[in-house]
Amino acid sequence: MEIPFVNLKKQYLSIKKEIDEAINNVIQNTAFVLGDVVKKFEDDFASFCSVKYCRGVSSGTSALQLALMSLDIKKGDEIILPPNTYIATAEAVSAVNAKPVFVDVDPETYNIDPKLIKENITDKTKAIIPVHLYGQPADMNPILEIAQEKNLFVVEDACQAHGAEYKGRKCGSIGAVGGFSFYPGKNLGAFGEGGAITTNNEEIAKKIEMLRDHGQAKKHHHEVIGTNSRLEGIQGAVLGAKLKYLSEWNNKRRKNAKYYNERLSNLDKIKTPVESEYGKHIYHLYIIQIDKRDELQKFLKSKGIATGLHYPTPIHLQPAYSHLGLTKDLFPITESYVKKILSLPMFPELEKEEIDFVVDSIADFLKNNF
Ligand SMILES: *Cc1c(COP(=O)(O)O)cnc(C)c1O
Repeated sequence: MEIPFVNLKKQYLSIKKEIDEAINNVIQNTAFVLGDVVKKFEDDFASFCSVKYCRGVSSGTSALQLALMSLDIKKGDEIILPPNTYIATAEAVSAVNAKPVFVDVDPETYNIDPKLIKENITDKTKAIIPVHLYGQPADMNPILEIAQEKNLFVVEDACQAHGAEYKGRKCGSIGAVGGFSFYPGKNLGAFGEGGAITTNNEEIAKKIEMLRDHGQAKKHHHEVIGTNSRLEGIQGAVLGAKLKYLSEWNNKRRKNAKYYNERLSNLDKIKTPVESEYGKHIYHLYIIQIDKRDELQKFLKSKGIATGLHYPTPIHLQPAYSHLGLTKDLFPITESYVKKILSLPMFPELEKEEIDFVVDSIADFLKNNF
């Protein structure tokens, strides 16, 4: 059996007719950049997220960067974020010349630990970026409280959390701004690059519209220095067609996670994901921990099972951030598990028999290696 890490082809084939029609429609109308189809998707995604405004941009990285720009974050400002996230969260901070300040995470949820935030706030701190990692919401209420007390913005990195909920509130609708990625493998994925910003603030939405389109307030009038971060028509069409299925797909991921949990709970040596009582996890990734991670990964590969690492090196230990002078042991929780985490195949179309094969293979490995 060959089990891929994700299976985008299977998903495409399941709604091929709708996708093909949507793409063809854009080709016929030649609305290749922004346009009506993108606008329709923005409106639909805004209502999916329960926010007033959504603006499509060219990637999740760009969404986070423009979100910070729209809040006037600039050189000298400090932004709080977790060290275990995709590098893009920190890159967005660096792109506006602000300084990333890392705060360690909760060992159960892998998300930023609100208890550790306050001691890292200085008079330069302007914003907190909680990342809803793997599709599990960060603990937002204590974060919002701190932000309110210290007058900080909350920018949600919801790039892995399309449809995840914190106490009934959709991720991306809770802070001042939310940033989403539609990279093909995300829970809602384009046929190329794409991203979006969500907000309830009209002024922020207007700024994003300008920033993504060369700072234009109107044709030939450039109000601010912006960039080119427009969402393409074809991506808007694909995303619009797929959005109708997102809740169903997320539920299938949850069902798959539940089945993995059931079967893996019989195996000691394996730590399965913990779902917090305050959140609806949408399992962008399904992460286990095991002491002989590299050996298990190799073994699974030999069985035809693809796995991933999210993420093997925390950002403070990446060469790109060596200028911050951060050393090992500064973030003990994150550092304690980066060598143990392994991402198992997870996608809505994953079959029960495939999960059985993955779990049986892990059981095989455990028998011979512990
Ligand atoms: C994917 C991702 C991003 C970046 O999104 P792109 O669309 O790839 O630019 C940012 N943050 C997190 C947590 C992500 O998973």
